[in-house]
Amino acid sequence: MAVVEKNQIYEGRVVDLTHEGHGVIKRERYPIFVPQALTDEIIRYKVIKVNKKFGFGKLVEVIKESEHRAVPPCEYYQKCGGCQLQHLSYHAQLDMKREQVVNLFHRKGKMTDVKIHQTIGMADPWHYRNKTQIPVGKTKEDDIKMGFYRQRSHDIIDMETCLIQDDRQNEVMRYIKKLIHDYRIEPYNEQQHRGLLRHIVMRKGYYTDDLMIIFVINGKTLPYASEIIQSLTQTFSEISSIKINCHREKTNVIMGATSYTLYGKDYIEDTLNDICFEISDLSFYQINVTQTQKLYNIAVNYAQLTGSEIVLDAYCGIGTIALAMASQANHVYGVEVVPEAIEDAKRNALRNGYANTTFVAGTAEQVILDWQRQGIQPDVVTVDPPRKGCDITFIETLKELAPERIVYVSCNPSTQLRDIQLLEDDYQLIEMTPVDMFPHTTHVETVALIQRVK
Ligand code: SAH
Repeated sequence: MAVVEKNQIYEGRVVDLTHEGHGVIKRERYPIFVPQALTDEIIRYKVIKVNKKFGFGKLVEVIKESEHRAVPPCEYYQKCGGCQLQHLSYHAQLDMKREQVVNLFHRKGKMTDVKIHQTIGMADPWHYRNKTQIPVGKTKEDDIKMGFYRQRSHDIIDMETCLIQDDRQNEVMRYIKKLIHDYRIEPYNEQQHRGLLRHIVMRKGYYTDDLMIIFVINGKTLPYASEIIQSLTQTFSEISSIKINCHREKTNVIMGATSYTLYGKDYIEDTLNDICFEISDLSFYQINVTQTQKLYNIAVNYAQLTGSEIVLDAYCGIGTIALAMASQANHVYGVEVVPEAIEDAKRNALRNGYANTTFVAGTAEQVILDWQRQGIQPDVVTVDPPRKGCDITFIETLKELAPERIVYVSCNPSTQLRDIQLLEDDYQLIEMTPVDMFPHTTHVETVALIQRVK
């Protein structure tokens, strides 16, 4: 006999919060996960799913509230899958993110000596996203809808505004919605793989105000392009680039592999800690600029450069970390898989006068081997891989290269732990700082200092 039954309502005390932000209730040790419930709350919940080892519940009523409960200011919060933590006070979100890192590294990884600092938060944690990616679809009544996806689905919630997105981009989003409607541009239909307009992507320079708009289309050309360009650029003077991204694949990936410029420049510009960057549409760029600057400052600190070091920056994107280090190093080598990003990195190095840099396009695992064969001996290696972490062959070569220090920036502390454990024989993790790059979501970014011991 199961300890809970589907569709029944129960009462219980929340004993923990998962890294996905779900409250945990235990009934005779059987865990039930309840989204939007907080630790120490007494709640009523309806069981909606009963698996063998755990169940899921829906919050019905909070009987005793946590002192950290906050009123979510966003009207779409209950439906939208974009944020998960608006019901938790910002201060408690920062504690929760640190706790997640502590759980992984101190408890799971048994690295109890590692100093884990408090999460570095934002003074004003709203409207921080400099990049918008909005799917376009149709309502039942055949009107245009634009917004984010419902939780765990691809159903678009029609939205007027998003509180974590740059507010000017919200305005542009509403304006574009009207243009799409007026010019009768057909939204893309995912199920049928038909229709034209898939996503509107926008990117903005935080310090420059440069705004790039990308129409991601299932085709080659946008109808009424010149009218649309004129209308947009006359209304929003900060638009410095309008692009078409051609994307005909049947996939969830937002952008296709090719794009061309309809108006203005091929890239936007921005500055990070007084270094200027050109950023083209296919290159990765951190979405929260104020926090990125703090993150890079910690990375530079952890690198402890004196001017004589050879530095390798793996997964370097447009060269942001590499150039943050370049003034304090002898030479910096960067590697990145997206060729356009490497072209950006080379231009960015030139623009800022860093001749002591070399950027190579390719996978980190391959290029680091090439560098090893060329006899390059790094003193410091920085890595900043995507969520899946580093390739095992990359870690093996890294061990052979034996740099004095490794600075590991990660957007997924579980793969970061896995990779650091692979280095354990030769290296010791000294300290870590979580930086809140994505307030109100459960995403955690960390930077770690790893020191050679052998
Ligand atoms: N350090 C940069 C980019 C970090 S994002 C910054 O802070 O802006 C991770 C980057 O790794 C992306 O640019 C992605 O294109 C790149 N990447 C993904 N897999 C890779 C691989 N196997 N080798 C090299 N780069 C890779």
